[in-house]
Amino acid sequence: MAPDTTVLYDRRGPVAQVTMNRPEYRNAQNSAMTYALDEAFYRAAADDDVGVVVLAGAGEHFSAGHDIGTPERDAHLSFERRAGLWWDHADKAGAERRFARESEVYLGMCRRWRELPKPLVASIQGACVAGGLTLAWVCDLIVASDDAFFSDPVVRMGIPGVEYFAHPWVMPPRVAKELLFTGDRMSARRAYEVGMVNRVVPRAELADATRDMAERVARMPRLGLALAKRAVNQAEDLQGLHAGLDSVFGLHHLAHAHNAETTADPLGGMDVRRMKES
Ligand code: ZN
Repeated sequence: MAPDTTVLYDRRGPVAQVTMNRPEYRNAQNSAMTYALDEAFYRAAADDDVGVVVLAGAGEHFSAGHDIGTPERDAHLSFERRAGLWWDHADKAGAERRFARESEVYLGMCRRWRELPKPLVASIQGACVAGGLTLAWVCDLIVASDDAFFSDPVVRMGIPGVEYFAHPWVMPPRVAKELLFTGDRMSARRAYEVGMVNRVVPRAELADATRDMAERVARMPRLGLALAKRAVNQAEDLQGLHAGLDSVFGLHHLAHAHNAETTADPLGGMDVRRMKES
């Protein structure tokens, strides 16, 4: 079997870089990629020589979101589950199938990655859409290039936002509503203004700027960083993030179920082409 290159892992000094590597599909996340990311984060967590982890996307775009239409779309397949104790989705039907799968590969994994006890720095260029946002949002720091844009257009599918519903915690609620209600792209500059990203740099400087930030943070003591990260994450949870994610996950699945009852599929008949045209 050919080596799995869906996600690349590379350590230089105290910085491990984890790179999504499906550039021909704008790094659309299939389950194979999700599990490969999970593997990479475990590896970085366990390696005492790694102080900080960078998450990047190969090619022109960070991530166009979850895979809803590439030839390697693998939502129907079983994987060895890791994020929770929900049973395998592959031989189940209806809402049970969707809830079990998304609890594992979307909400469960994102939640766990947010708790990686080392700082995670996102390096974002081009598209950061829907499922791409969730990967950016589980990172502690975000460096974006000036051509980056952020959007969650899934309201077009009748769905109230992507599975990891951190929107009103990572930006002001009224801005979150605008992002969701219009499906419009938020520019890197605007994302900076509302406090969603830490730095905006020219595209050509993105890799170096991300690395500079990661190396600077990596000079801090390991336990200090882990505790500081936990302190801020706990504050977000006290502000309702953890419970909010659970409650909106239920609304998200109500929408999938409504679509499945009233249209051809749980995505409301939307595919990549229709999403682009609408
Ligand atoms: Zn979903």
